[in-house]
Amino acid sequence: MAQREIADILGCRVDLVTTAEAVSAIKDLIDKQQPAHIITLNAEIAYQAYYNSELKNIINSAEVVTPDGIGIVWAGRELGYKFQERVAGIDLFYRLCQEATREDWKIYLLGSAPGVAEKAASKLTAAYPGLKICGIHHGYFKDEDMPAIVQEIGKAAPHILFVALGAPKQEFWIKNYKDQLSVPVCIGVGGSLDVIAGLKQRAPDWIIKLNLEWLYRLASEPSRIQRQLVLPKFVGLILKSKHKRRI
Ligand code: UDP
Repeated sequence: MAQREIADILGCRVDLVTTAEAVSAIKDLIDKQQPAHIITLNAEIAYQAYYNSELKNIINSAEVVTPDGIGIVWAGRELGYKFQERVAGIDLFYRLCQEATREDWKIYLLGSAPGVAEKAASKLTAAYPGLKICGIHHGYFKDEDMPAIVQEIGKAAPHILFVALGAPKQEFWIKNYKDQLSVPVCIGVGGSLDVIAGLKQRAPDWIIKLNLEWLYRLASEPSRIQRQLVLPKFVGLILKSKHKRRI
């Protein structure tokens, strides 16, 4: 793939990619067979990374960072970058399953509560006949379970490992284990397995098109209010950073 343009959002690099370009970059990484980390970055995590250099380093050393969430797209545009679209984790998930079926890649699902990934797997195999799901493990494991899980994933040898532990837990997990796993692509997908399994509803298309998915999520999961309270602070930091770039 050609050299990608990169945005700097509060010190985090974000690739100016569309969903199709992200899929193509991931395909190249699978061909290269070197462990790669894909992050779909939203405003909450970019805000956390502003104050947490370890998280910022993980983001900046990932092979692909997509603009997940209208907050990042808005911030990028404010700062003068030409983001074409939002690349949401769940959309990338579905597109990669489609590509996996075409390319005969194996996928592994790690994360969510016991039983959820199994439900998601049966929905995915119904939607993408021929999709090879080579393993599943829930996300409520103890540190001492890790060697066995790493061994199990290694044996299953997926091309893509979807890690649904929530952000940024999944980002730290991938950073810690990706070299031991020797899986070409690890991608953090947050609560996607809950949505695919049907436990949580995604906003209707018209709400997504109005860029109000965050509001829908807040209304259906009021406990997220604490997390979303950082959004006005994120906006403040972006406006400050825009002002600094001008002077
Ligand atoms: N989760 C997990 N293990 C944990 C903590 C969370 O598997 O130790 C799962 C949880 O069951 C849920 C997902 O991680 O499926 C987090 O979903 P959320 O919507 O909060 O993630 P986000 O998309 O906001 O990162």
